[in-house]
This record gives sequence, C-alpha cells and structure tokens, in this order.
Amino acid sequence: MSTRAPGPGSLAGLRRANRDRVLGALADHGEVNQATLARETGLSSASVSGLVRTLVGEGAVVVRDGTANGRRGRLVSLRRTASAGVGIDLGRRHCRVVVGGADGDVLAEAVAELEDDHLPDDTLPVVDDLVRRCSEAAGVAPAELAVAGLGVPGPVEPSGERITGGTILRGWTDLPVRETLGAALGVPVFVDNDANMGVVGVDSVLGSDSGLVFVKVGSGIGAGVAVGGRVVRGVTSMAGEIGHLPVDTRLPTMCRCGRRGCLETAGSSGAVLASLGAALGRRVTMPEALELVADRDPVALAVLEDAGNVLGRALAGLGMALNPGVVALAGALPELGEPYLEPVRTGFRQAVLPAINDATAVVVSPLGARTVAVGALVAALRATAAAA
Ligand SMILES: [Zn+2]
Repeated sequence: MSTRAPGPGSLAGLRRANRDRVLGALADHGEVNQATLARETGLSSASVSGLVRTLVGEGAVVVRDGTANGRRGRLVSLRRTASAGVGIDLGRRHCRVVVGGADGDVLAEAVAELEDDHLPDDTLPVVDDLVRRCSEAAGVAPAELAVAGLGVPGPVEPSGERITGGTILRGWTDLPVRETLGAALGVPVFVDNDANMGVVGVDSVLGSDSGLVFVKVGSGIGAGVAVGGRVVRGVTSMAGEIGHLPVDTRLPTMCRCGRRGCLETAGSSGAVLASLGAALGRRVTMPEALELVADRDPVALAVLEDAGNVLGRALAGLGMALNPGVVALAGALPELGEPYLEPVRTGFRQAVLPAINDATAVVVSPLGARTVAVGALVAALRATAAAA
C-alpha cells in the first residue's frame, strides 16, 4: 500500500511557516486569545493550540488567564526579553511588590497588610492584584514582565519549587509555590528565602566583593550571605538560618523548632514585644513599642538593648567564619536606627576578635524596608539573564 504524504522536509517547512505566522500575529497584536490568533493566521484552532503549546515549551511565548476585548480566556503573548521584572516580598503580615529593572531601579511599589497565618488561597489574589497595580503604575504591560522573584520567610527547596517545613508561613508549607504563582501571574517565578533575596538587594547597591551578610530581623531572623555577587546557599539551601542558633539554652521560651535558647526567642520582633509586654503587664503592639522607644521609655530601651546585644553576639559567629566587610540589617527593629544598632555593634564587638570588628561595618540596609522586594527583583532578572 502506498500513501502520498508530505515528506519530512515539506511537513517541517509547513510547521515552520505556521509557527512564523503565529509569532508574526503576536508581534502585530500584542496579547490576544487563541480564537483571535486562529482568525489572524487563518489556522485551525487545533493547529493554533498545538503551536502555542510548542512555543510555550520553547519559552518564546507566555500564556495567562485574563480578559481581552471584554472576554475572559487564555491570553497569549510573546515573551519579552526586556529587563522589567517584579520583586515580591511575602511576609507573615505583609506583601510588598516592586516593578523595576535589573539594576534594582524601582519604577513602582505597592504594599498590602495580610492577616496573621494567612493562607495561599486568600493571599495569591492579593499578590496578583498588587502586581497588576504596580505594573500599571510603572507603565509596564503585564505581558512585558520577564520574570517575578518571590522572597519567603523560611527555607525553600533547592529547586525553588516549594517552601519547606520551618517557615513561619505555616499554611504555605509544601505548596508548589513557583508553579501556582507562575500560573496566576503568567510569568516564570524565581523563589528563594527572603534573606537570600535581601543580600542580593544589598549587593546591587554596595557590592559583595569584600563579603556581605544581610540579616532580616522580623517575626523570624534569617541571614543571607554573598561573596563576589554569589549567594552562599549551602548543600540544602539552609545556609543562614541563624534564627535557630542557640544563644542561651537556659531561656525558658520554647522555640517553634522544638528547642530552647534559639536566637529567635530572644532577638526577634516577637521576642521584643513579649519582653516589653511582660515588663509592662499588658499586650504591646509593634507601633506602640516603636512609640515607646521614640519617647525614650527606659523599659523599652532596655528591652531593645538586650535584643540588639543578643543579635550582635550571634552574628559574631558569621563574623568570625566569613570576616565580611558589611553586615546590613533590615526589619522593624533595625529601622529604629541607633537605639538598636548600637547594642548590636556592642554585642558583635564583644564577641569577635578586634581585627574582625574593625573591618566590619554593621549598618542598616541602604534599601530599608524594600530590601527583600528589590533583591527578589534583581535576583530573578539575574537568574533569567544567566539562563538565556
Ligand atoms: Zn529554634
């Protein structure tokens, strides 16, 4: 039996021509749904579907759920190689989003407060909304965003697929966060621990040739380490989990990791509020604590001094191991400036060799509260450039 069929050469030629028609239509019309693509190219819906799948696999186009001409559907667009991206700092009670470029220049920023122990189903739409608002404010179409970086408070699988156990975002453990957020935003997502993102942010301003340590002091405490622009992650991406360094095993408070004496139970913002609350005999919120410090309340200053001192001593280990040029801090406590920084520096100085202390500048991050979000933006765009 003989069947006349196009030879491999002509079939491949036809596929290439159809592929070029789809790419040409996307270049002309921007973001469109598949029905429009079929109409513009004269190809069948099935052919367009198959070609779009192939092009997504090649990384040439992106697909997201959205609205075009008043109709919801799957929207297809060319993947831009432009250097605009998104940086997302997802915390226990906040989400900060920036849109900007690879050198960390921020075109727009948006912040939302989140419920304590928030869950992905509630939070992902908020993140999506912040990204859309931010892109609009920056004058960058969502389809022009090359990548999104997400910094999360806790360890992330080395592959970046999932947040692993030990995060303070309890409801997010084991969620395939890269895939889930990528599908919602319609861009590839690069996920890392927030302190690793933060150190990239500080590196984009100060450089890390002399060794750089970034420490985020919030509900948890984590450090990111970079040397010569490279983040040191360790074999299972756990490097810098200093919140669980034992600082005093006689401390009565049980840590969420199941041990006593962790840095986090003595030096985190939660520990400061708990100490202050115990001393004053009432519940104290962070804004109240900041007000008490601003008013030079002696109890608040003493509690802050203890927390700064214990962090400084804990950082001495990293100081002695790495001999870094800069230790940059971010979070509500570091933002208080000298009343917190001074005890951190004192604790560090008392626990390292003088030659190491003299060489290390302990400072507030030059990017302040934006450090993790900007770092996530820069890290994601750097990862994209490296993969290109
Ligand atoms: Zn612990």
